Amino acid sequence: MRLFDTHVHLNQIDDIAGALKRAKKEDVDKILIAGLDLDSNKEIIEIYNNIKNFDLYMALGMHPYKPQRDSFEEVYALIEKHKDVVTAIGEIGLDYWYKEAKEEGPGRDLQREVFRKQLALAKKLDKPVIVHSRAAWSDCFKMVKEYNLIEVLFHWYTGPPDILEDILSKGYYISISPSIEYSKEAQEVVLKTPNDKILLETDSPVRYRPRSGSYISEPKDVIRTLEKLSELKNVNKEELAEITYASSCSFFNIEIK
Ligand SMILES: [Zn+2]
Repeated sequence: MRLFDTHVHLNQIDDIAGALKRAKKEDVDKILIAGLDLDSNKEIIEIYNNIKNFDLYMALGMHPYKPQRDSFEEVYALIEKHKDVVTAIGEIGLDYWYKEAKEEGPGRDLQREVFRKQLALAKKLDKPVIVHSRAAWSDCFKMVKEYNLIEVLFHWYTGPPDILEDILSKGYYISISPSIEYSKEAQEVVLKTPNDKILLETDSPVRYRPRSGSYISEPKDVIRTLEKLSELKNVNKEELAEITYASSCSFFNIEIK
């Protein structure tokens, strides 16, 4: 069995070498590291350049949690400079759950401005995008469509069913995290999505809170995502591992060896 953790903030994990070793033991053989802001993008490039004993991929981009106009220009330049080794643009998007963007106004405008610039960059560089869309599902969908993007991943999607239908009708993908062990919203999404449109992730080091006890995730925990998916879909683990691995590679334009 082999697994692809498609969304990790590896730069936020203290013991990276240990986490990668543990991931390998659980059959994780590919990891995509996602960027958040200028500093994390720089750290990711360093990790990517230094670690040679694991199949790592990187997405660079600016997350909507602190969309700063000034540092955005630097992020943009960084992506262009590394375009040959950047697998995707991410994570980018909108988040209307944050205080400054709860209502229409400058907070949302700034998020949208930064998101638009990155969508245009993805189009220009012909890269897949990883979209963070919390509480802004409809606007995110409209905007990726506006830019005519073909390879779009709605990361950790827990939005409404009608937008999920739109997402799937465009051939876009969703990814799911270990939250499917307990989140009703995430479980409903999974049940409405064909297996070959689902990618697995952990979003490590996010803290998950299943009944069995809360824990801080690392890439090895992608097995928990797989196991719960297998239970919900009533398809065996090995088969789902192969399907999701192949979809991940196809989405990120990675050749399977
Ligand atoms: Zn993330």
